[in-house]
Amino acid sequence: MSDCIFCRIVAGEIPSKRVYADDAAVAFLDLAPFKAGHTLVVPRTHVSDALADAGVLASIAPAVVATGRLLTEKLGASGMNVLSNVGADAGQSVFHLHVHLVPRYADDPGMGALLTPAASDDLDAVHARITATA
Ligand code: 5GP
Ligand code: ZN
Repeated sequence: MSDCIFCRIVAGEIPSKRVYADDAAVAFLDLAPFKAGHTLVVPRTHVSDALADAGVLASIAPAVVATGRLLTEKLGASGMNVLSNVGADAGQSVFHLHVHLVPRYADDPGMGALLTPAASDDLDAVHARITATA
């Protein structure tokens, strides 16, 4: 038996409120929703995060789109945050790739209220570091 909680949810060993599934992915409601309908889309294949394997990430794109459209249609969402945390420093707590779908509704300030620009960012210095050749 896997000790990965999302592998166990995919296998049906742990119950979840499943809203969508296809050959590559399963989508189920987050236990601790940020907003009504907050859903996680996870691949059936275990990889640690969204940057671990491009093929696995690509394979869940149809499920992300289908689930996002389902939530929009059924819950009347007027927007959606689509995000994936990679690494503990980014807030990842379950190390099986998952995409969060957080429906947003009218008059909702959204993630923009949380993500204020850092005034000290030096765009030239950061750009130079990213584009420097070794
Ligand atoms: P992360 O912090 O890794 O980006 O997101 C992990 C998410 O998984 C959290 O939002 C958390 O609420 C959710 N979660 C953790 N354990 C379970 C579980 O057993 N079932 C469900 N449905 N969600 C879970
Ligand atoms: Zn897993």
